[in-house]
Amino acid sequence: MNTDFEFAIVGGGGMGSTTAYYLAREKNSVIVIEQFDIGHNRGASHGENRIIRYSYEHLDYVKLAKETYKLWYEAEKELKRTLVHHTGGLDLGHPGNTDFDDCIRCMTHEGVPFEVLDHVELRKRFPQFEVNSTTRGLFQKDGGYVTPDVSVPAFLKLAEDNGAAIKSNTTIESIKILDDCVEITSQSQSWRVKKLILTAGPWAGPLLESIGFNLPLTVTLEQYAFFTPQNKEEFQENRFPVFFTYLPPGELDLYGFPNYNELGIKVGEHRAGKITTASTRSMTPDSDKLETLQSRVRKLIPDLSGPITNSATCLYANTPDTHFVIDLLPGCNNVVVAAGFSGHGFKFIPVVGKILVDLATSGTTSRPVAMFGFDRFASSIV
Ligand SMILES: Cc1cc2nc3c(=O)[nH]c(=O)nc-3n(C[C@H](O)[C@H](O)[C@H](O)COP(=O)(O)OP(=O)(O)OC[C@H]3O[C@@H](n4cnc5c(N)ncnc54)[C@H](O)[C@@H]3O)c2cc1C
Repeated sequence: MNTDFEFAIVGGGGMGSTTAYYLAREKNSVIVIEQFDIGHNRGASHGENRIIRYSYEHLDYVKLAKETYKLWYEAEKELKRTLVHHTGGLDLGHPGNTDFDDCIRCMTHEGVPFEVLDHVELRKRFPQFEVNSTTRGLFQKDGGYVTPDVSVPAFLKLAEDNGAAIKSNTTIESIKILDDCVEITSQSQSWRVKKLILTAGPWAGPLLESIGFNLPLTVTLEQYAFFTPQNKEEFQENRFPVFFTYLPPGELDLYGFPNYNELGIKVGEHRAGKITTASTRSMTPDSDKLETLQSRVRKLIPDLSGPITNSATCLYANTPDTHFVIDLLPGCNNVVVAAGFSGHGFKFIPVVGKILVDLATSGTTSRPVAMFGFDRFASSIV
């Protein structure tokens, strides 16, 4: 039984990587245990890019976004490299979707600068998009993207540089919660630690079930594709923003990025995936869904009429209300859980890391996490 570490983090994806860094930086003894190679593509924190933005329809997310940006910039200084690529962020709002106006209300409340564009201004500023007379634009200059394939290994490297142990290709198969410590076991080894931090992403459901907690998480197989524009210049980072649509209820939102390293323009449908499990999911994109995506992209961005050049899959771990779960395990102060990021957690990995350190070291946090408690699932959790 290994008792060398006070903290163990199960899951070396986005959330686990920053938590390890901030715990180790505060001179805590911490081990990260990851079932695959660092940077693998079987979970949720891999690939070329993820949107980072302030525009959110809930105040707490805007508050968290303000801190997450600061922490990304701090990490850039530490790593002496760019992690946040500013392209501007454009939300396309349609009548019937109230979230768009809530984003305006929340950013106004938090003093985040933005511009609201009507369809005439939209056509002038962003002629790449086909919009109708009822479409409005919400442009926020700090919008952009971060890169999982770069930032996850980078944060784990920072954690290691600060003394953390990283153990990859090791699957935690059992968890035993004792009065003042937790025992976790893989096929070949066991650890007894003071605090366990579960950042297991789409695998969190079965792990929590194994210790008697039924968190209502639905794992979905999401996919995205890359398109080649006729007119490349129009889609470079200084001309084409990251974007997100706010479509009427019942229509799947689209999100996308400017040209990335000549791969083309990445576009995806948000929360369009079939239900699956992390252990049985396919790695092959669904061709019918790719066709649907292609025809929708041609309508919204006519210049992307060429063939799909590349596509990939990825997993969302969805809660019923699509808000995160970041909390102490009910009735158990030595287990902290971060799960259910529902397809929008990557931008927040630094601030979630800070929150997990707060909860693991002092059992509480001053950061706005009231929306992310287990208590909202009280009726179904045990
Ligand atoms: C297609 C797609 C597009 C997205 N776009 C955006 C976006 O634009 N902006 C944004 O902010 N977010 C976006 N997201 C969401 C974001 O990527 C996720 O919210 C985030 O990556 C979740 O990180 P995580 O650390 O919780 O999960 P993961 O990265 O999946 O990490 C969990 C880790 O735990 C490990 N693990 C699990 N069980 C065990 C075990 N028993 N033993 C050891 N290790 C274990 C897994 O191998 C994995 O590495 C997107 C997600 C997808 C899929």
